[in-house]
Amino acid sequence: MWKHRDAAARGAAEYKGMVEAFKEGSLTPEQFAKGRGLYGVYAQRVPGTYMVRVRIPGGILDLDGLELVLGAARARGLLKVHATTRQDIQFHGLVLEETVRLVEDLARSGLSVKGSGGNGARNVALPPEAGFLEGEVFDVAPHGLAVERHLQEEPLAFSLPRKFKIALSPLDADPAGARIADLGLIARIRDGERGFCAYAGGGLGRNPKESLLLVDFLPERRLLALVRGTLEFFAREGDWKDRSKARLRHIRDRMGDKAFGEGILAAYAATGDIPLVLEEEGIPKGRRRKGSVSLRPPGGEYHLGELEQVRRHLQELPGPVCLRLTNNQGLWVGNLGVREARRFAAAFASLRPRFPLEGSLGCVGASICSIGIGKPQETLEAVVRRFLLEPPAIRRALPALQMSGCPSSCARHQVASIGCMGRIKKIDGSPVPAYTLFLGGSMDGAGVRMGDAYGEIRAVDLPDFLVALARLKVEAGAGEVDFDRFLEEQGEAVREMADRWKV
Ligand code: SF4
Repeated sequence: MWKHRDAAARGAAEYKGMVEAFKEGSLTPEQFAKGRGLYGVYAQRVPGTYMVRVRIPGGILDLDGLELVLGAARARGLLKVHATTRQDIQFHGLVLEETVRLVEDLARSGLSVKGSGGNGARNVALPPEAGFLEGEVFDVAPHGLAVERHLQEEPLAFSLPRKFKIALSPLDADPAGARIADLGLIARIRDGERGFCAYAGGGLGRNPKESLLLVDFLPERRLLALVRGTLEFFAREGDWKDRSKARLRHIRDRMGDKAFGEGILAAYAATGDIPLVLEEEGIPKGRRRKGSVSLRPPGGEYHLGELEQVRRHLQELPGPVCLRLTNNQGLWVGNLGVREARRFAAAFASLRPRFPLEGSLGCVGASICSIGIGKPQETLEAVVRRFLLEPPAIRRALPALQMSGCPSSCARHQVASIGCMGRIKKIDGSPVPAYTLFLGGSMDGAGVRMGDAYGEIRAVDLPDFLVALARLKVEAGAGEVDFDRFLEEQGEAVREMADRWKV
């Protein structure tokens, strides 16, 4: 696992200083709340409790990282940890003093919390299978970690108008989501030279947008110059006053695509070369073994006992095993022999979805997140319980859901085949928990398609609605058919059905 002890120690000292200033009264509660987010510390719903999010660079956890996470969680008496869609790990339910001790403990091991939240550059997103994907142009993990190093050493990266997300994909299918990132890079080779197709100004949230193509070939050696130039452009042109208009894509809205793209490229051109040192830690050397297994417990909740068993099992295997967090809250185990993979999959069948819906993506929602509206984890549990009452054909008919507890889109509901966004709907004057339903979103080599909104369904009705949707699909003879194709062919029937359920 890639670590940066100095940067992590600096971040921990800054956070500790901030907590002390708050306790002494030199920071108001509002100032403290605003400041601690940058260190991945957020207040939970239960007063006096906090969650801490730690950066797992590129999601490359490996066995040593898993051991660190397990040790840190156990020392605090936690029973589970949460994996995020940004390939980070969250520790929940801590009192303030414990957040300081945890951040310090993690920093001693080289893990940083800085920028895992707040207005700064977040963890660099990489596909977990980077280096192992069929048809990839080249392994982008060493580049992703080089970008991560640059960010962790660059103060500007943590002093921005809003959050800033970078993603690198090794092939056009774009498994890392480069085309919906603030800055996205997709591997290319031109005339034998390695480089990237670069995009900027995309993102989900309240104002979802596919990124703008900046340049179709950025030489590899200029990668960090583009990162640096984009950060400078963002800091200079971004809206520092109005948080709701402060993302990079809002500059694009304001300036128009042409001026936005030219502005970033001018900042890039003015930035001299920054040496690119490709990182090797956590990157397997030599021939790579093809066996792999993905674990995906519901909602990204990992019980420590299960993780400990995973660790012990993998520790016994020969050769370096890859253990990486995925952007759908899963854990990808790779570089295994085929037989080892089979045995591992059988041993951890309980951490693998029995049917696609069971592997749905859900943010922590309002039970933990202080700005959350819906409770995706609870709704997902109800959905799975409801589908377990149905015959196998119905259970298998729908793909995994992507459920966000609010418009912040942590579960990327807009680019899901079936996405749900938590909201409160007034019915007969009373507030009722509901979800806005989005269907038909996607993100692949063909580009990004935002799902269409199909109205609001009451949270309590969602399990039955989904069963009805699965039945409609099966009865149309499309039980095994890809959901997006079914939607293309039966869009009208689906719309009519959603209209009957919506409130
Ligand atoms: S989507 Fe909203 S509720 Fe869910 S974790 Fe993100 S901010 Fe919190």
